[in-house]
Amino acid sequence: MNQLSETVVLNALRQIRDPDLHRDIVALNFVRDIAIQGNDVSFTIELTTPACPVRDEMKAQAIRAVREAVPGVGNVAVEMTSNVTRRQAPQQADILPGVKNTIAVASGKGGVGKSTVAVNLAVSLAREGAGVGLVDADVYGPSIPLMLGVKGKPRMVGKRLQPMESFGVKLMSIGFFVDPMDAIIWRGPMASGAVKQFMTDVDWGDLDYLIFDLPPGTGDIQLTLVQTIPLTGAVIVTTPQDVSLADARKGFRMFEKVNVPVLGIIENMSYFICSHCGQREEIFANGGGRKAADDLGVPFLGEIPIYTAIRVSGDKGIPVAAETGTEQSEIMSRIARAMAAQVSIRNAEGSAPNVEIALGPS
Ligand code: ADP
Repeated sequence: MNQLSETVVLNALRQIRDPDLHRDIVALNFVRDIAIQGNDVSFTIELTTPACPVRDEMKAQAIRAVREAVPGVGNVAVEMTSNVTRRQAPQQADILPGVKNTIAVASGKGGVGKSTVAVNLAVSLAREGAGVGLVDADVYGPSIPLMLGVKGKPRMVGKRLQPMESFGVKLMSIGFFVDPMDAIIWRGPMASGAVKQFMTDVDWGDLDYLIFDLPPGTGDIQLTLVQTIPLTGAVIVTTPQDVSLADARKGFRMFEKVNVPVLGIIENMSYFICSHCGQREEIFANGGGRKAADDLGVPFLGEIPIYTAIRVSGDKGIPVAAETGTEQSEIMSRIARAMAAQVSIRNAEGSAPNVEIALGPS
């Protein structure tokens, strides 16, 4: 029978693999602070994101592994924490120094629900405990202040603009400064300049994820963003219609050209559940987003049905992701976790070598 010791605990935990990073949690250096007192043991598992899709499962696995390795062990207490990883490429030190990851939410065309998705991803990640900021870079149609119910104007402290905050998300939008109708007639350089200022002149502080809601298409603002900061990745929102999917592919190619990894595709307005008969109506056909992701070789992060509640919540300024236990909030948080997992995967690439040595008979 195994005596309870740090080595025995570590060896037991080596059986547990992170399904996204494909290595065991000891090799990944997730296991911290092992403490043994008599028959009891406690330790911490530090994940790469608080929005880890397998967080609860991993905790249960860890307890089971230790119990199996040390029959008769007393209490096994596991604390799950996280420390979000940052991208490995050198960040321009003077721009966004405290921001670990920058993510663009893009779409080929307007009206597919890109801003809705950006807002709900941000709120979901913040609810999991991550530090999150959101830039409304859709300067020609800044809808995010409305969707998050934020009014008023950001303050200046010294020479730095202070972001607004709503549902735990720090927020900056051109909508705080100009009438949306005025922004529509801006020339391209003015709009790009505004987005650049949101990166250089705003006091974002320390953030795990800074999300950019881009205008639709592939124009100046997208280019400004990728030229100003090294993005961790982009997420493409599409609806299932062929026209939207064709535009999503164009978006993918743009990011590919400028070496921004595409973290995945999200299909919005995938289907509608009839509130009377409960039948699933695939208004815009179905499965196109998943197929496009497969064709392009990028992850499919999930599908969002059409819900009246999503439209109403956007208009009311209370995003569905802020609700507890509703179908819509569950869907949003599942997609946010899938995206956070992709960020962790990207950040792990190029860090410690993923060497697996197969030991077997020689
Ligand atoms: P985009 O940013 O792509 O232009 P928006 O996020 O502004 O699109 O969404 C356009 C409209 O569609 C909004 O009124 C929004 O509330 C609504 N909408 C977006 N996604 C859904 C959905 N899944 N179900 C119902 N309404 C939605």
